Amino acid sequence: MIVHTKGLIVCVCQGTCPSFHKMNVFEVVNYFRRNKKVDFVVIHPQLCATDGDNFWRALLSGNLDGEIVVAGCDPAMQRKMFGWVFRELGFDESKFRGVDIRNMSTEEAIKAIEEALSA
Ligand code: SF4
Repeated sequence: MIVHTKGLIVCVCQGTCPSFHKMNVFEVVNYFRRNKKVDFVVIHPQLCATDGDNFWRALLSGNLDGEIVVAGCDPAMQRKMFGWVFRELGFDESKFRGVDIRNMSTEEAIKAIEEALSA
């Protein structure tokens, strides 16, 4: 069975990067959960690390077919860092959207993610 879903992953550079200190990442993801804007949310500490690759394999190796928004660093960098694992897994990259939320407040991050979800 193919699972059509829309997911939000927030990546926070181990939680130690000052770029994410102005926002409350839990408030960010809870906003999208509460308002049922996505089917699932994840906060990941470092998607570009080796265990991040393993996370993608675990998430995408099933029959997931849907949109995934990753809120974190520069979207072009995200594409470079995740593109090869998407290709390895046969995941359609057009269903991936990166959004830069660095140095944003909670409200600013929510707005940026909302825009990415509706793009
Ligand atoms: S993917 Fe981007 S936001 Fe996530 S840990 Fe790597 S550099 Fe930081």
